[in-house]
Amino acid sequence: MQDLSRLCIHTATTKPWSIEIAVEQYARANVAGITVWRDALTGRNPATVGRAIRDAGLEVVSLCRGGFFPSVDADARARAQADNLRAVEEAEALGAPLIVLVCGADPAQSLDDSRAQIIEGIRAVAGRAQDAGVRLAIEPLHPMYADAKSAVNTMQSANDMCDAIQLPNVGVAVDVYHIWWDPGAFDQIARCGTAGRLFAFHVCDWRVPTRDLLLDRGLMGEGCIDIPRFRSAVEKAGFSGFNEVEIFSTDYWSGDQSAYLQRIIEAYRQHV
Ligand code: ZN
Repeated sequence: MQDLSRLCIHTATTKPWSIEIAVEQYARANVAGITVWRDALTGRNPATVGRAIRDAGLEVVSLCRGGFFPSVDADARARAQADNLRAVEEAEALGAPLIVLVCGADPAQSLDDSRAQIIEGIRAVAGRAQDAGVRLAIEPLHPMYADAKSAVNTMQSANDMCDAIQLPNVGVAVDVYHIWWDPGAFDQIARCGTAGRLFAFHVCDWRVPTRDLLLDRGLMGEGCIDIPRFRSAVEKAGFSGFNEVEIFSTDYWSGDQSAYLQRIIEAYRQHV
């Protein structure tokens, strides 16, 4: 049974709520941390939002997301780097210590080429991020997204990329939804811990059957992922940060968000 002191919720989980309502509702429910979806900042001053979050007693865990570095088009790669630099500025203003990277992939080129461009893109923004006190977490994505969302699909690939980049503020976000199937995941979580680069831990569940490849994540306990085993593994690897609930689900977004928040908390207590 988990208490709520390390519970973080990603604002996309309760997408129908504005950031202002999410902050108010999370705080009232004793949620401890919040990850801010960049879209939730549209039309707002990130510094003001950051202050409101801290005033409500919540901790800003991360800004989600940066990345999407690769493209066959050099201009598009330059635009992506510029957008990631803006994300660093937003994180700094918001007071977010971490940006989660969905690294990107371009199906018009090989995955190897995309990976090389991801390394190049991260190197281009990591220095500015370091100056701002912002860390960058490579999140390996399930291989069903290897076509256009990320050429980094396993923990091993994320670790190898960090080894290639060799910067202290570049690490890994472990999301059970993306890596639960991988027989090498636990060894790679340990490797991640040894290297001191395990920066984030995301939870939800894999619904059986999954009805949509993007927007049908389940509540913890609703699917087939052994979440407590992953939590133990990241803790054994030295991670002491937040357990972040991140659920993209058109199903849950269509219902009453207050009742849903209570279900999230219940599922967190029982299944994380
Ligand atoms: Zn995630």
